[in-house]
Amino acid sequence: MGETRHSKVLIIGSGPAGYTAAVYAARAMLQPVLVQGIQPGGQLTITTEVENWPGDSMVMGPDLMVRMEEHARAMGTEIVSDHVMALDLAQRPFRASGDSGTTYTADALILATGAQARWLGLPSETAFQGFGVSACATCDGFFYRGREVVVVGGGNTAVEEALFLTNFATKVTLIHRRDSLRAEKIMQERLFANPKIEVLWNHVLDQVVGEDDPKGVTGVKARHVETGAITEIPCAGVFIAIGHDPASALVKDQLKMREGGYVWVEPGTTRTSVPGVFAAGDLTDDHYRQAVTSAGMGCMAALDAEKFVAEHAA
Ligand code: FAD
Ligand code: NAP
Repeated sequence: MGETRHSKVLIIGSGPAGYTAAVYAARAMLQPVLVQGIQPGGQLTITTEVENWPGDSMVMGPDLMVRMEEHARAMGTEIVSDHVMALDLAQRPFRASGDSGTTYTADALILATGAQARWLGLPSETAFQGFGVSACATCDGFFYRGREVVVVGGGNTAVEEALFLTNFATKVTLIHRRDSLRAEKIMQERLFANPKIEVLWNHVLDQVVGEDDPKGVTGVKARHVETGAITEIPCAGVFIAIGHDPASALVKDQLKMREGGYVWVEPGTTRTSVPGVFAAGDLTDDHYRQAVTSAGMGCMAALDAEKFVAEHAA
């Protein structure tokens, strides 16, 4: 049997939302405990330059998250390296079971579990995951020096990944299912200005083609969304950048949810459908999904939790 640890405020997640909530909760003398999860620092740890974090015209994502962690710790947050496997929100104190065997109990809970990369679900995509198919150019781009790669998607992530990959690859083909991109205009301008990048409009990935020995990708088949015509593109790497799913499985049957699995919060607050449980960041936000908005919601969640704890003090 593992130990049981109680805190007034338990924060689950260590992205911008979790760490900001921790700074505020710690400064409110709530002695918060923050469980980091399997991705300490969250999504920004898999990117390079962040150019829209106020106060830094450019900061590396992993560096920013290390600074946030240090800030939260310096204010008095107890940061725990563990992953929450189950949550019981039926009664207070709330209970969270950690992978380490520790049970965390808390008077108020801040959920900041963020989001995870989405996959297309093609069997050939799964077959070559880790062998040429990736969802993280920052992690794997280096392997494609002097090779050709494909990126799938039309949002900021896809454009950013395509641009980043031109540092290594000889050619990057961006496959997008529509005839216009969702990405910010400034990102689009950079993409279109890059001679190494070609965009294949109105196409979806039909199949990843590769070899078994040694296992690796040799190309893709892309299908035109209207005509069904197949275009074959030789490449050594395929980067799937089609968005993210909120990490809400822990609370699926316990909290009111919105379409797409996002945790519902009362508009203008971080209050969920269970009093004392607050949600912040990409877990609840299908629209803005930015570091700064996640941090803002983390702040709101800590202030909402502080009020709740004060009102429900024994
Ligand atoms: P996340 O950053 O997703 O963090 C979630 C945290 O929850 C992680 O620490 C994880 O370990 C933890 N967790 C999950 N499940 C559990 C569990 N069961 N138990 C314990 N912990 C758990 N935004 C910008 O503003 N500027 C950018 O330049 C930018 N670039 C980006 C580049 C990429 C490649 C990506 C993917 C996103 C980018 N974003 C950018 C978006 C930004 O990263 C997110 O909006 C932001 O990180 C969301 O913060 P969050 O705190 O809600 O969650
Ligand atoms: P996103 O904005 O949701 O874009 C996902 C893209 O993938 C869309 O173009 C979508 O096409 C496409 N797509 C989705 N499902 C698909 C499928 N099954 N098959 C083919 N294509 C599919 O996701 P994101 O780009 O990961 O960005 C997530 C959030 O992080 C956004 O809010 C973004 O602004 C933010 N972010 C910001 C930065 C930055 O500020 N520098 C960088 C990265 C991410 P449609 O367009 O047709 O829907």
